[in-house]
Amino acid sequence: MASKRSAPPLPEPLSPLIDAHTHLDACGARDAADVRALLDRAGAAGVEAVVTIADDLGAARWAAEAATWDPRVYAAVALHPTRADTLTESARAELEGLAAQPRVVAIGETGMDLYWPGKLDGCADPSAQRESFAWHIDLAKRTGKPLMIHNRDADAEVLDVLHAEGPPQTVIFHCFSSGPAMARVCIDAGWVLSLSGTVSFKNARELREAAALIPPEQLLVETDAPFLTPHPYRGAPNEPYCLPYTVRALADVVNRPAELVAEQSAATARRVYGL
Ligand SMILES: [Zn+2]
Ligand SMILES: [Zn+2]
Repeated sequence: MASKRSAPPLPEPLSPLIDAHTHLDACGARDAADVRALLDRAGAAGVEAVVTIADDLGAARWAAEAATWDPRVYAAVALHPTRADTLTESARAELEGLAAQPRVVAIGETGMDLYWPGKLDGCADPSAQRESFAWHIDLAKRTGKPLMIHNRDADAEVLDVLHAEGPPQTVIFHCFSSGPAMARVCIDAGWVLSLSGTVSFKNARELREAAALIPPEQLLVETDAPFLTPHPYRGAPNEPYCLPYTVRALADVVNRPAELVAEQSAATARRVYGL
């Protein structure tokens, strides 16, 4: 969660970068001018484009509209697993309409979150999450757009639903935070893993082992801003311009130059999202 810590300084620029998963609305953007200011800051750090993600219906409407305000912004729409029990008939119809828009490039974030039930008031229970996840998988298949998965403490359940429903052609695990065994399963299935600032955290040894396994053509980078600010700014508000901190930390893990990691991950983002 964002704290009162001040914003991280602008990093040394690294380009080309694409932020594969961010929340511009939660970063404080309301209108086209706010979005432009955020993307101008990102651009100064080498971040050329972002995919802004919705986690409820209001956010989905906003994300789809924001993607029409600025050519550097694309959107993804879904109901977050913690809000799975708001997937009413009318919500389904509206999400289907938004998902068909050309600048909406993925269905997400959906998936399973077993961390929040019981801790967060109004959080959907696992069975509602499962049903919603299955519906979003079907929507990804019907639209031909990538499925973007949120997986928190739910490796086995996510794999179970994917196998039961049959995965769509393109599957992206956003903020991949599991260990090397789960990474291996996803890589062998041809899925795409997106790494966030968590890969830079000091206590992320297992995740770094996992990161080293991911082939460049299956690797994305993201901020998940305003959350998960990379080391050494953990706890400060995150924004797309902070992505170079994560990519430089990742470059050390995978033992490739940061410029190459940037270039390869941007090419992968363009390919999987069809940008
Ligand atoms: Zn998420
Ligand atoms: Zn997110």
